[in-house]
Amino acid sequence: MSTPRTFALWYHPLYTDGIHPEARFPRDRYRLLLDRLKGSEANGRIAVHTPKAIARERLLLAHDADYVDRFLAGELTEKEEKRIGLTPWTPAMIERTRVLIGGAVEAMEYALVHGGMTGNMAGGTHHAHRDFGSGYCVFNDLAVCALHALEHLGVESVAIVDLDVHQGDGTASILADEPRACTISVHCSTNFPFRKSVSDHDLSVPPESGDDVYLNTVREALDVCEAFNPDLILYQAGVDGLEADALGKLNVSREGMRQRNHLVFEAAELLEVPLVVFMGGGYAKPIDASLDAFYDLFTDAAAWYD
Ligand SMILES: [Zn+2]
Repeated sequence: MSTPRTFALWYHPLYTDGIHPEARFPRDRYRLLLDRLKGSEANGRIAVHTPKAIARERLLLAHDADYVDRFLAGELTEKEEKRIGLTPWTPAMIERTRVLIGGAVEAMEYALVHGGMTGNMAGGTHHAHRDFGSGYCVFNDLAVCALHALEHLGVESVAIVDLDVHQGDGTASILADEPRACTISVHCSTNFPFRKSVSDHDLSVPPESGDDVYLNTVREALDVCEAFNPDLILYQAGVDGLEADALGKLNVSREGMRQRNHLVFEAAELLEVPLVVFMGGGYAKPIDASLDAFYDLFTDAAAWYD
């Protein structure tokens, strides 16, 4: 297996600009993070790629045609848009969503060819279900990637390691009947979604847990992943478990988040399989603490094979 000398990271200006400026979602986090990465020592180690819009057929791997077509035509109901939550809605959301899923798929395809780790600087849209979106997620990039890898790219087994503070409910439900995909979610027991799906492995952490409890639970999750022995790992690396986060209810430190990421990188290295990083949630107010943790995530991934 050859490893890339640079960390390939997908990014598009629409990740920020495709969300309405008045939406409650902290849309600037993508643009700000790219600026920080470009201004850092890691700059030479990170190769930024611009994704193309995903094809409709790829979305149909994980989603109902009626939902896909109504979204692409800008015809979701107001109720459906509100459930997704990136309101006020803007027509640019359509292209944003298409390049966001495109970035995830391209990052995964690259990792399967070149080995090592890649990432998409957005996404981890784990609350999107087969026929509806929810919790800032329109389509499920993890499920689309998993099914594309299994159906078209010769991958025989894929693990989804979801360490966002919220449960990966959409991913679990879309992949429930797919034995070649193992869904593993570590999340806070009392957070959204309040009606949880059943993942292959759900490991819930009580609110206010600090680094030790959280990291021990992550180790358990990775033991499960290693036992499954996948060909590919998709890593939802949400940092909303941080103590500074406005939506999470865990008390994980910046250093604890770094250790968590390192445990996942080590697991991929041990298994000698490619790993794709999906950004996930991060909602500190102000956003700086989330940006610090995402900065660590991508710079540590870029430095991993030095
Ligand atoms: Zn989250």
